Amino acid sequence: MSQPVPITVAYGNGIGPEIMKAVLNIVKASGANINIEVIEIGETIYNKGIVTGIEEKSWNSLYKTKVFLKAPMTTPQGRGFRSLNVTIRRKLGLYANIRPCISYHPFVPTKHPIMDVIIVRENEEDLYTGIEYQQTQEMVQCLKLISQSGSERISRFAFEYATKNKRKKVTCFTKDNIMKKTDGLFRKVFEKVGEQYPEFEKEHWIVDIGAAKLADSPENFDVLVLPNLYGDILSDVAAQISGSVGMAGSANIGEEYAMFEAIHGSAPRRAGQNLANPSGLLQAAVLMLIHIGQREEAEKIQNAWLKTLEEGLHTYDIYQDKLSKKKVGTQEFAQAVIERLNKKPQKLKAVSYQQKDNQSSKTPINTINKTEQKTLVGVDVFIDASNVSTTEIAENMQQIKSSLQLQSISSRGVNVWPTKSDNVLLSDHWCCRFMNQDRVSPIKHKDIIELLSSIYENKIDFIKIENLYLFDGNSGFSIAK
Ligand code: NAD
Repeated sequence: MSQPVPITVAYGNGIGPEIMKAVLNIVKASGANINIEVIEIGETIYNKGIVTGIEEKSWNSLYKTKVFLKAPMTTPQGRGFRSLNVTIRRKLGLYANIRPCISYHPFVPTKHPIMDVIIVRENEEDLYTGIEYQQTQEMVQCLKLISQSGSERISRFAFEYATKNKRKKVTCFTKDNIMKKTDGLFRKVFEKVGEQYPEFEKEHWIVDIGAAKLADSPENFDVLVLPNLYGDILSDVAAQISGSVGMAGSANIGEEYAMFEAIHGSAPRRAGQNLANPSGLLQAAVLMLIHIGQREEAEKIQNAWLKTLEEGLHTYDIYQDKLSKKKVGTQEFAQAVIERLNKKPQKLKAVSYQQKDNQSSKTPINTINKTEQKTLVGVDVFIDASNVSTTEIAENMQQIKSSLQLQSISSRGVNVWPTKSDNVLLSDHWCCRFMNQDRVSPIKHKDIIELLSSIYENKIDFIKIENLYLFDGNSGFSIAK
């Protein structure tokens, strides 16, 4: 027999310990060959004053095993505590979040009897880098960062997942009609990577209508790949409409490490009563067993779980008077799954995980054109000025001694000078664009430094600058509306 695979387990808080106990009982009974290291995270650690919710020694276990099965934990209310999930994702480079959203009609009530959607969410970029600034009394800013390499990695992950799991279609949602640079890049890279996978149907929807279609007719979707924010929101929507928010698991995968968990929280009010449904965490454990190559055990558990569901042994949260046979507690539900470990469901579709992965033969294409010519052609200088008119700002800025010319002033992305915009709500936050007169000829960094010196000497409070570049002659910046 091969060496047991070491995994790190955290029992978490609230209902965490009881659902983890139930899940590990099932996993062990399946014959899975694992060696468990237990770490403590969450409430008890936060209460020791450790703001991250995890101790240094626990990281060592994670670095060693590289596989983490995590029960939900309670995040204390109040300032200063950091989200452990975000810390773990960032520190272990878990760039892909995978959440299968499947309906188990009629055993779990849902408006969408046919639903089997896999959400692949980019986990590290977008607005979730948490880079925020207060720039003036009135204005705060959050940076949305999307990279070519990050977009390429997640798109490739989605297509590879679709290949390995014999899926048919990969859909991408963005808002590239508004965020042409950031979401535009994500979509462009998705389409470019998709060219390498001609066997799949591919589509792109603007996220608002895409979300509406997903909520209305999820049977039309298969694998969905999304930037971080849309993925965060829509993976909850998809889990909810599948009818099984308490029953879904998710995987967070990186190049080296992986973390598996239920999507629900620690439900403190249900804790300690042997009531909670362990299915979400069990689904996470199944994803984990597939990840560590113990497919036979994963399949055995999944089919036994489906059989338990269809035989009507249900925890309180999915119990239905007419359909369920027996209301069971957490540990009894686990025992029922264990008793069915070599059985297959008759009404729900049995799963088969045992075929070898369809190995992809795709050579990664690099969509990044590193030979693009980058030309500095201007600078946006953001200034803080309250109780002034647009005309006053323009007069002051035109007096600045500089080789560059004031081309425009905008407020919250709307041009207010030289165009007149009477209906624009003005604030204390202004963007002044300086370029050469022709707007395309190169400028030098030194020109910007001289401009800023002059702005400083005129006692104008500049709060940040953004350099304006052309890439192979194409504009790398937006134009105010
Ligand atoms: P929650 O998911 O814990 O619970 C919401 C409700 O859903 C519960 O009251 C319960 O009725 C039901 N529920 C959830 N899981 C269930 C299960 N397995 N079986 C039966 N019923 C279940 O959400 P919440 O109340 O907003 O959060 C509670 C705590 O969990 C908070 O401290 C929150 O920060 C934390 N949380 C942790 C994670 C995580 O560790 N990944 C995720 C979400 C929330």
